[in-house]
Amino acid sequence: MGIFDTHAHYYKEDFGGELEQLLADLPSKNVEKVLAVGCDLQSSEEEIALAAKYGYIYAAAGIHPEHAADVPEDWESGLEALLRKNKVIALGEIGLDYHYPEPPKDVQKAVFVRQLEIAKSFEMPVVIHSRDASGDTLEILREYKPRGVLHCFSGSPETACEVVKLGMYIGFTGVLTFKNSKKAWSACAETPIDRLLLETDCPYMAPVPHRGERCDSSMIAFTAAKMAEIKGVSTEKMIDIAYQNAERLFFNDRV
Ligand SMILES: [Zn+2]
Repeated sequence: MGIFDTHAHYYKEDFGGELEQLLADLPSKNVEKVLAVGCDLQSSEEEIALAAKYGYIYAAAGIHPEHAADVPEDWESGLEALLRKNKVIALGEIGLDYHYPEPPKDVQKAVFVRQLEIAKSFEMPVVIHSRDASGDTLEILREYKPRGVLHCFSGSPETACEVVKLGMYIGFTGVLTFKNSKKAWSACAETPIDRLLLETDCPYMAPVPHRGERCDSSMIAFTAAKMAEIKGVSTEKMIDIAYQNAERLFFNDRV
């Protein structure tokens, strides 16, 4: 079984003219499925267009917290229209990001919560982004109990356990391969192997030995190797298990 990259951003803005060739080549590099994730209505639409073009790509549509203040007035109906499109299998990425003071927390929370409600009505899993906001994210997740994944996990092992208790999955990026990622290693160690997802968050977060370079889904093998080491299984086995976990979350439970 190949790689399921459960979180990638393939935007023209980042990959320019190289995007199409790169995407055409990924299946020959052991990449079997990719979830291409939007951050606002426009980038979500871009990813949906890629899903229409490439058989192995699926799309997630959603409003990232950093765009919570600049959504158009009719964003909810706009988002719902995108969620009805072919091969859109998740709502994301959504969540809370308190790294910068803007947008205000109450604005982020309102847009986050509204999207959790929309996901419920569509019976769709969610892809959640949480940075420097563990407390509020957990509080909202406990209340809304969505199916989904906490992506690019950067929280404590305790937070990981809480998320798992809620029935959710945890995604790790190339950050897991960084030398100073002790906290991520313990969070990964604490997470049951059947709740782990592999992701790139490309073009960012390229794993060692490509740290700092533009990332793409084929680099996930390095993250898988580190995850495998932490969980005490072979890399191949880890890639298989993470693939099955992603299938369970994004496809099996779907109506
Ligand atoms: Zn992302």
